[in-house]
Amino acid sequence: MYKQALLIPVLVFSLLSLSFAADLNGRWIGKIGNDDVGLDLKAEGKNLSGTIHTPYGEGPIGNGKIKGATFSFTYADNGIIIPYTGKLVGEKIDLSRTLGGKETIGTLDRMKEGDPLRIAQRMRSEMTEYWEPVPRVVDPGPYTNMVKAPSDAIVLFDGKDLSGWKSRDGSAAKWKVDNGVFTVVKGTGDISTRQKFGDYQLHIEWKVPEDIQGESQSRGNSGVMLQDLSSDLHLRDYWYEIQVLDSYNNPTYVNGQAGSVYKQSPPLVNAMRKPGEWNVYDITYTAPRFNEDGSLHTPARVTVFHNGILVQNNFALRGHTANAGLPRYMAPHGKGSITLQDHGDPSKAISFRNIWIREL
Ligand code: MG
Repeated sequence: MYKQALLIPVLVFSLLSLSFAADLNGRWIGKIGNDDVGLDLKAEGKNLSGTIHTPYGEGPIGNGKIKGATFSFTYADNGIIIPYTGKLVGEKIDLSRTLGGKETIGTLDRMKEGDPLRIAQRMRSEMTEYWEPVPRVVDPGPYTNMVKAPSDAIVLFDGKDLSGWKSRDGSAAKWKVDNGVFTVVKGTGDISTRQKFGDYQLHIEWKVPEDIQGESQSRGNSGVMLQDLSSDLHLRDYWYEIQVLDSYNNPTYVNGQAGSVYKQSPPLVNAMRKPGEWNVYDITYTAPRFNEDGSLHTPARVTVFHNGILVQNNFALRGHTANAGLPRYMAPHGKGSITLQDHGDPSKAISFRNIWIREL
């Protein structure tokens, strides 16, 4: 009697587990957060195997386990082990993913027989980084005399205030002006010129703090957006950027070091002065031209001198600055603001001074 009483619930539980395992079998499709996700699962007893399909690739799942109504597995995505947990709820799966300590949840539906399990692939930022050949280091010598604004220049920063600049929301620029110099106030956002420009010659000086810490892209990161069209075109992050970074003994992908057209063209040489010294960019920019039908007529072109040394020689931009993905000219445009980037890397803030522009 005692044995039988125990057997019945055990039997029922075993049957339930079996049917749960059977129900997990098959192909599932849905979303976790904004990402499309597909699963092709094979459940056997307490073990789960199969493949996962994501916008960044697909592959076999690992450590698949079924426990009661829930299951778990991991996916080694580009060397990062990502844990997933799920639960079968009726004819759906509730699936959660933990990445960088953050949990994102989603729901997957069972796929119809014969429907192909295909997920549109998205590019990652690493796909457009390249590390070699490393531009040769050229010592530009010490900063000597300041090249002051010539008579026909528009002075964008005269050492006194940021009245010519605004935050992205249109309010006054919140970076700190002190002693003829202004410094990024991290977290207050990028600042843009109130005036818009087409073709021009730009002079801008910038300094990485002497006690800078961090490495690669997290060391004095900022940028000069030659034309920032984000608000004019209502396109997120649409600009053309010359990278600002501490590239003094700081390896990073070469198309992301100081003097690069970010993610498009590494500098011809590395002409960086060390932290605590002033660096100078002299930039000649020719805006892109568009046909009447909106198609591209001629690409934007840029020449950059870093501390007097040529680092970009009339380079034809392939399109906007894309961190993940490929550059494109997405829409025709006219003049645009020049923007300086509040990158948000955790290193100490960099400073700027003596900014002037000559329209061409
Ligand atoms: Mg930058």
